[in-house]
Amino acid sequence: MTVTTAIRADLLDFTAAPAWGDTGKGSDAPSGVRWRPDHWLLLDASGRIAGVQREDPAPGIARHDHRGRLLLPGFIDTHVHSPQVPVLASYGTALLDWLDTYTFPSETAWADEAVAQRGTALFLDALLAHGTTAAVVFPTVHKGSAEALFAGAAARGMRIIGGKVLMDRHAPDGLRDTVASAERDCVDLIQRWHGRGRCSYALTVRFAPTSTPEQLAMAGALCRADASLYLQTHVAENHDEVRWVAELFPQARSYLAVYDDAGLLHPRSVLAHGIWLDADDRARLATSGAHIAHCPTSNLFLGSGLYPWRTALQAGHGTSLASDVGGGTSMCLLRNAAAAYTVQALQGERLTAWCALHAATRGAAAALQLGHEIGSLEPGCMADFTLWDWSAGPLDTERQRVARGLHEQVFAWMTLADERHLAATWVAGQARYTRRTAA
Ligand SMILES: [Zn+2]
Repeated sequence: MTVTTAIRADLLDFTAAPAWGDTGKGSDAPSGVRWRPDHWLLLDASGRIAGVQREDPAPGIARHDHRGRLLLPGFIDTHVHSPQVPVLASYGTALLDWLDTYTFPSETAWADEAVAQRGTALFLDALLAHGTTAAVVFPTVHKGSAEALFAGAAARGMRIIGGKVLMDRHAPDGLRDTVASAERDCVDLIQRWHGRGRCSYALTVRFAPTSTPEQLAMAGALCRADASLYLQTHVAENHDEVRWVAELFPQARSYLAVYDDAGLLHPRSVLAHGIWLDADDRARLATSGAHIAHCPTSNLFLGSGLYPWRTALQAGHGTSLASDVGGGTSMCLLRNAAAAYTVQALQGERLTAWCALHAATRGAAAALQLGHEIGSLEPGCMADFTLWDWSAGPLDTERQRVARGLHEQVFAWMTLADERHLAATWVAGQARYTRRTAA
């Protein structure tokens, strides 16, 4: 293995899940946090991480000196919608009327493949410009939207999990499939894209109300036929939604049980929100290996509820961090981490910077069974990483100057920084986003 490139910065990543509430003391980070200030990250010709060292690299190795910047593994957004950029920051609705008023009409436009391709390019470039190098993505019901997603990800070298959205009822004209057409499209997309490059296919059930029991059963059968497939959906986001699901599926013990009964809960299942679940649901999530993508800016913006992260932890199921754009208000997972802190504070809990950043990197990778590829700076992982300024203006510069100890420094950064602090995003050893500096 030949080292070709070296990047100098303050390196932060994780080797295990940090304990809830443990900030560490002074410059000592708690177990699981790996802090290597002013080190060199070494990359090899295949775009993987080759190692980390304090000493200057040997002659002949290309050097990128980002001294004084923070280097993190690329963020992993475990729940985001590629067609929803046009509905960001839409006023005045909660989940169900937000879907009817804004989202469904907007997604209808993606029946046109040119619209889908243009929107997907904008979306993927925006992920990179917000520090996200891997994502679990909902496109639209249209096969071409998934095609555009995978092709766009492949062109950028990004790790993407996605699939055409399944919805055969309770959606407007132009936004419904059928069990048969959906199965045909899924099988074809799986054959063409699942495991190709850095793309994986996810059976993508929008949510229980927009799929018939027959369509859910079809998705479950495809999951059972190939354990390497992912499953993504929404669950228990909002009270009215939970009530509607109970009316539509009176035989199911709970909303989560609708998915369980259809064979959709397994170690590669990613369920967004998971706010209004009971103890039995959380125990079932834990035994199934499925995990929850927590979407704090979305939950606050749509008034959906407060995610009980510590309860989830105690129940033994995983939690990753997600933007849920366009219900969420920022694609930047730093903004979402700051919102996640607020969501916990409103419940009398405190979310450390370590737990939040872990959930956006190594924690998400582990939950997706991709820890060997993404989420950390471990040798052998793909060189997906981001370079951030510690501060960008007089206020956060002053805040950093007076910070005592590592957690205070990183927590203040996480809370005050956003995509304007992002200097560069690398994917598979290549710079795919570089901030333009003012002339
Ligand atoms: Zn969503």
